Amino acid sequence: MNAALPRLARTLGDVVFPPVCVHCRDLVGEDGDFRHLCPGCAAQLAFVHPPHCPTCGHPYYGEVEEGRICPHCVGLDPAFGEGRTVVLFKGPARALVIELKYHRGLHVLSDIEAVFLRSARVMEFIRGAILVPVPLHPRKERERGYNQSALLAERLARAAGGGTRVEALLRRKVDTQTQTAFDRRRRRANLKNAFALAPGATLNPGLHYILVDDVFTTGSTLNACARELHRSGCLRLDAVTFGHG
Ligand SMILES: [Zn+2]
Ligand SMILES: [Zn+2]
Repeated sequence: MNAALPRLARTLGDVVFPPVCVHCRDLVGEDGDFRHLCPGCAAQLAFVHPPHCPTCGHPYYGEVEEGRICPHCVGLDPAFGEGRTVVLFKGPARALVIELKYHRGLHVLSDIEAVFLRSARVMEFIRGAILVPVPLHPRKERERGYNQSALLAERLARAAGGGTRVEALLRRKVDTQTQTAFDRRRRRANLKNAFALAPGATLNPGLHYILVDDVFTTGSTLNACARELHRSGCLRLDAVTFGHG
């Protein structure tokens, strides 16, 4: 195919839908690193740097004492090893995920991938691993048309290279969205059994698996997934999220 065609298509697309910053709604020029974040908003992305919590990846600010307990992970009892996150889930990072999840914003996937690529810590961490996306309930996936974590995992596997691949090992049995009337504790109890191995899924205990999700909030969804993988024989399991918040 003519190499100029994708570029032409992009230019024509931009004439019809000029790229707008998902955060401040300004027009985005051609010169920045992102197509849907203006340079001003891109500069506000709050990348996570060490030291950070080994479980959820949230940065530790100021002095780090020995044996420090992260306020986000109190009572979590993680069934996965290490957790890393790329950015804090606020401002422009939050706007990208909201666009992706709630506004059918598949076009922002390449910007989310570009944010990941700026985090050498996270890209090195996933290289060579098997990425396992946190599944949506089939009803929700039908409604949205896609599972954003699965799309993200595919992008990351390709970008990381070195044998990194995606295996959709889990399925979601319980539709937690229909349970909003339940109290928090009951929802959490239901979440514990919300996941099962996907039909035909097999695990190799010798391999490194990494759960992938868009956002780390309480960690209970990731943990429920981790427990199921652990039960199924996964011995080396970590987690990666785009944002934390
Ligand atoms: Zn902006
Ligand atoms: Zn933590």
